[in-house]
Amino acid sequence: MPVRTLRGFRDLLPNYLEDFRWVESRARAVFERAGYREVLTPTVEPFELYEEKEGEQIEESMFVFEDKAGRRVALRPEFTASLARLFAFMGGEFKLPVKWYYVGNVFRYDEPQRMRYREFWQAGAELMGASTPESDAEIMSLAWNTLRDVGLGEGALIRLNNVGIVKSMLEAWGVSGEMQSRVLTWMDKLGKVERSEVERGLAELLGEERGSRLMGLVDVEGEDPSELEPVLRGFEGSVEALKNLEEVYDAARAVGMRVRLTPFLVRGLAYYTGTVFEAFVEDIPYALGGGGRYDGLVAEYGGPPTPATGLSLGLDRIVDAVREKGVRVKRERSGVFVAVVSDDLRRRAFVLVESLRAAGIRADLDLRGGRSLSKQAEYADRTGWRYVIFLGPKEVERGVYVVKDLESWEQLEVPEGGLLDFLRAGLD
Ligand code: AMP
Repeated sequence: MPVRTLRGFRDLLPNYLEDFRWVESRARAVFERAGYREVLTPTVEPFELYEEKEGEQIEESMFVFEDKAGRRVALRPEFTASLARLFAFMGGEFKLPVKWYYVGNVFRYDEPQRMRYREFWQAGAELMGASTPESDAEIMSLAWNTLRDVGLGEGALIRLNNVGIVKSMLEAWGVSGEMQSRVLTWMDKLGKVERSEVERGLAELLGEERGSRLMGLVDVEGEDPSELEPVLRGFEGSVEALKNLEEVYDAARAVGMRVRLTPFLVRGLAYYTGTVFEAFVEDIPYALGGGGRYDGLVAEYGGPPTPATGLSLGLDRIVDAVREKGVRVKRERSGVFVAVVSDDLRRRAFVLVESLRAAGIRADLDLRGGRSLSKQAEYADRTGWRYVIFLGPKEVERGVYVVKDLESWEQLEVPEGGLLDFLRAGLD
C-alpha cells in the first residue's frame, strides 16, 4: 500500500536540496562573518516554553501532544524561545553580547498553501545583551546581506516598525496584555485580508474611535519616520518608540539597506518589545524573513533582564525565490564516472573509483552491471558527471585511460600515471 507524506510535509529531493544547501551556506557565511556562532536546541520542547509568550497565532498553530509520561510537549514552532531559554539558563557564563545563530526545521499546524508548509526551515540569529540601534540594524543586515548574497539584492526591501508605538498607545488606553495581543493579531492581518475587515475587528475590540486612531497609523506608511509624529501626539511612550525607530532606520540606511517604514507591521509574536521588521523581495508576495527586539523574554525564563534582538529567515521561501528568479548559476558538471566495456572489469573500476575518491575527486561507476558502454555514458551524462572514463581490456593492457569530457565532448587518452593531475586540472 502506498503511503504518502502528511499534509504540509515534504520530501526534499537532490536537485532541490542542492539549491537549498547553497542558500543555507550563504546564510551561514553571512552570520559567521558578523561574529555569530552556531547553536542547536531540541526539536521537541516543553509546551510551557511557548505558552503565553508567542501570541495567539503561533500557539494556535503549534503541534502539541502528550508524550508517554503524560507531559505536554510541542514541536518547536520557531527558535527564539529556545535560545532565550538557553541564554536565561546559562547566560551568566558568557561575555556579552552573545551572538548565536541556528539552522533547523520548525513546525506549525497552519493551513498548507503555496509557500506555507507545516514543516519548514529557518536560519536565524539572536543577539543578546545589546540594545543600541546598531544592534537592531546589524540583525536586519543579516537578512539584507543574505538576500544580496543569494542574488536577490536587487528588489530587496526591509519593512520596519517599532511595536512600542502601538503597545504604548494600548497601554495608555489601559488595554490589558491578552487584549493587546488580540489587537496586534488583527493589525498583523493588514495586507493579508480586506482593510475593512481589520477596521471592524479593531473597532470591536477597542471601540470605533480608538480603532480608527490605530488605523491612522497605516496611512503614514512611507519613507520618513517623522511623519508619524503628529499621529502620536499625547502618547509619551509611543513618541519614545518613534525616536528609537528613527535611529534604527538611520543606522540601517547608513549601511545601504532599502528600508520602508511600515507602522502597521507588528508581527504575530507577543514577545516583541521594540524594533520589528520583515524582509521582502519585489514580486514575491510573502515575507522571506522577519525579526525584532524582545527585551523581556530572557527574564521571563528566569534569566537576568537582558535586551535582545533577532531574526529568522524562511529558507524554503528564499530557495523558491532564487529558483523563480533564476538567479542561481547553472549547476555545473562535476566528477568522473568510470564506465566499463564488460562486467569482468567492474572490480578494477571499483578500485579506481575508490582511489579517486580517496584523492578527493568525486567519482562513481555503474553498480548495476550488465549495461552497455553507451548506456553507462548516457547515465553519466544525465546525472551531471563531467568526465567519463571508458575502461576496456585494451586500455588496461596499454596502461592508458580514454577520458571523455561531457562538457566539450572531446575525448582523449591519458596515461595511467597522469590521470589524477589531468582530472584535478579539469575539475578545478
Ligand atoms: P516568522 O517568525 O513567523 O515571521 O517566520 C520567519 C520566516 O519563516 C518568515 O518570514 C517566512 O519566510 C518563513 N515562514 C513562516 N511560516 C512559514 C511556513 N508555514 N512555511 C514556510 N515558510 C514559513
